Amino acid sequence: MPKLAREAEAIPAISDLLAAPEVRGALDFLKQNNGFSDDELIAICEIAAPPFKEGQRAQFVARQLRELDFGDVLIDDVGNVIATRAGTGAAPGVTGNSNHGRRRGARDHRTVVISAHLDTVFPEDTDVRVRREGTRLHAPGISDNACGIASLLSLAKAMSAGGIKPSATVCFAATVGEEGEGNLRGVRHLFSKGGFDDPVAAFVSLDGPGLERITNRALGSRRFRVTITGPGGHSWGDFGIVNPVHALGRAIARFAAYPAPLSPRTSFNVGIVEGGNSVNAIPEKASMTVDARSVSVEEIDRIESYLRRIVDIAVREENAQRAFSGTDLESTVDLIGDRPSGETPPDSLLVQTAIECSRVLGIEPRLDCSSTDSNIPISLGIPAITIGVGGQSGNCHSLTEWYEPTGRELGLKRLLLLTVALAGLAD
Ligand SMILES: [Zn+2]
Repeated sequence: MPKLAREAEAIPAISDLLAAPEVRGALDFLKQNNGFSDDELIAICEIAAPPFKEGQRAQFVARQLRELDFGDVLIDDVGNVIATRAGTGAAPGVTGNSNHGRRRGARDHRTVVISAHLDTVFPEDTDVRVRREGTRLHAPGISDNACGIASLLSLAKAMSAGGIKPSATVCFAATVGEEGEGNLRGVRHLFSKGGFDDPVAAFVSLDGPGLERITNRALGSRRFRVTITGPGGHSWGDFGIVNPVHALGRAIARFAAYPAPLSPRTSFNVGIVEGGNSVNAIPEKASMTVDARSVSVEEIDRIESYLRRIVDIAVREENAQRAFSGTDLESTVDLIGDRPSGETPPDSLLVQTAIECSRVLGIEPRLDCSSTDSNIPISLGIPAITIGVGGQSGNCHSLTEWYEPTGRELGLKRLLLLTVALAGLAD
């Protein structure tokens, strides 16, 4: 096993943690419950949580957390569930931090956030009842992210069962709006208006199954709606005036020729094209939606400025060609989604701790890039990763999604170790 760079003595010895009686108590709880029970997972999955309508599932999660010996459990203004287990200890191995005035032995003014998103991609009328086939469970949203929420609850229960008193404050967050047009609104709120009393030292998002992937790079994306408008008219009687669909066509042809680099990996897509009312009417309006993604924010900036430029050129060309008609087109490029990119460095304390907690359990992790709730803290310079909770899945985001829970106990064990390693144990 290659020796990895690490931040001096800061990583606690994982094997010492495994020997602590309260950790052993929590691990016993996880063993008895096989990580989390099928019934718990099914109960979560069968409460529909469509985009922008996560309320019922949030209430369920809040009720479960309120049965534990926590301080506050609240549902915030946007619908995130937040439960806080206040830290009681002194900061271990912290030798002074000019930002927060910490000293060795001072109260541990850090927060560790463990989170999972509540929402699914499925609309309200989707049948979310779970069907069993052997050990496999079938239902839309069962793996993304009912299993993440089940793990979050199980972790909280295991910590209570073992009587774990963390040194840093541990905050359990079930977030809204991770998927699609939710545009990470839940986690955005947590890190803006939501606020934490103490600085967030680590943010861990539980999203989907699997054990190997540690997502430390945030795949950024930006989405736009391009709209071109003109006077419109009759295809014969008004021929010669500007045509928004013709201009949009010019724009798409130019945009499609954009030379996206292979590295840093970058993609772009025109997803929806709309416009016009009739085959024999010059349209008043044409629009398209555009998705741009890259592991590098500079590349996304570049695509955005290219898009704005070619829309401008396409409109000017159409206006110039039809100048004799005295009509003009206008255009707007509106931002409809924005997920920032960035990276929690591989040699950061958080990534190194996650790697060690995995290896101690025989899991060989690999670092990964994806678009998740962690995008927001990463973009703010707060260490964040997204991990799987164990088990396997297939057909995510489709009606035939399934989850195979074998291996989830190991996932929960890793999660418990990671949480305790990050937060520390109070004396
Ligand atoms: Zn997800």
